[in-house]
Amino acid sequence: MATRSETRHQSLDDLDHLAAKCPRCSLCKFPPLVAVRSHARSSICPSYDEYKYHSHSGSGRVIIANALHDGRIDVTEGTRDVIFQCTMCGGCDMSCKFSTDIEISEIMFALRAESHERCGPLPAHAQVLDNLRGHGHPFDATGGSKDDWLAEITGVRTGLSKRVLLVGSSYALLPDRRRTLLNLVRLLQVAGVEFTVLGADEPDTGTMALHIGDRDLFDTLARDFVGIFNTAGVEEIVCADPEDFATLRAHFGKVGDLHATVRHAVEVLDEAVAAGSLTLRHRVSHRATYHDPCSLGRRSEEYQAWDGETKKIMGQLIVTDPPRPVNRGTHGVYEPPRRLLQAVPGLELVEMPRRREYAYCCGGSGGVPQAYPEFASHTAHERLDEAGDVGAEIVVSACPGCERNLDGATDGRGVEVLGIYDVLAEAAFGNRG
Ligand code: SF4
Ligand code: SF4
Repeated sequence: MATRSETRHQSLDDLDHLAAKCPRCSLCKFPPLVAVRSHARSSICPSYDEYKYHSHSGSGRVIIANALHDGRIDVTEGTRDVIFQCTMCGGCDMSCKFSTDIEISEIMFALRAESHERCGPLPAHAQVLDNLRGHGHPFDATGGSKDDWLAEITGVRTGLSKRVLLVGSSYALLPDRRRTLLNLVRLLQVAGVEFTVLGADEPDTGTMALHIGDRDLFDTLARDFVGIFNTAGVEEIVCADPEDFATLRAHFGKVGDLHATVRHAVEVLDEAVAAGSLTLRHRVSHRATYHDPCSLGRRSEEYQAWDGETKKIMGQLIVTDPPRPVNRGTHGVYEPPRRLLQAVPGLELVEMPRRREYAYCCGGSGGVPQAYPEFASHTAHERLDEAGDVGAEIVVSACPGCERNLDGATDGRGVEVLGIYDVLAEAAFGNRG
């Protein structure tokens, strides 16, 4: 049929042969049966849970992509809402790929790009894009500078070096995430990890532009980022924020060739504890559960370039030659945060029914909090209800977006939401800073 290279963003045309494979089985609404541990918590799609129409499931968006590609529909404001009332959590992608090779997430990224091209951004997203273009991060310019936090801690070297801690725009600029960032830096310092930070010069990875569908802006930001880090010979990037981690690992390969190894901070801290350079000696006597950020788990799998041919055989079966690699969520970062929490004296770690590659999203990504805050809040409530099912007193995550969205939904239910760096700081220093 066609020769394709996947070393670039895929368009609806590139992906149409995969969209056409969907038989509307609806399995993308639930974790696979073998991973269902609770009847009450047996859904995986926050969008379908919120809006109740098939159009709002992974399959519904695949059908929209197929219809747009074939010219049977156009992007109206209503269609655009359906496309963006989705956290881009990737749950549907994992469930579908339990038995297929359909790339729902890639189709939804292409769908967002197509919608952006034809209909422009949602008003709430237009502001985010203006911010990114205007001052290099997605937040309001009045929120301060990305180096403000450096005034609150000593001994942090700035500038490019072999190992850079990529703080990320959320940790650097959101006042309610400041303590968690400072705790991470304290932990790295006491563990003897050599690193620098870039402060006000830290470039944004363009994650929000990618999720909003502005591929031109994402490409510009990604190429600038790659140029800065490659020219300086940076060998390792340690990401504080898993959204950056996921974007660097799963999407930068479509745009450029970043030379540095990309790791998340929990992997570095896990190594430090195993090596004995970070000691967790203080008790944190709580029953805790760990919420897998989609961006640290299933969405962080490394991009795998593919060059090959798509062929139709026996008149109807579409195959790829050589076989196209498929990410199925198994190589996300699941164990390091769990090992770290298990190493905290006194902490009892209990698992929620939906976890690892089949975790339920917190509702805090995909541009949903900005455009559909009620949907984001309802999803956070559902996740906290699940934490309540297993009797958790604290819900721990490793993502500023998850922590923020969940924290905003605790409203008197007697559960506390913490960043993993806060829990580890309490265990290492006897306080959360
Ligand atoms: S997207 Fe996948 S899981 Fe969902 S209906 Fe289609 S084939 Fe089934
Ligand atoms: S990405 Fe998440 S919210 Fe969106 S359709 Fe898939 S499971 Fe539902």
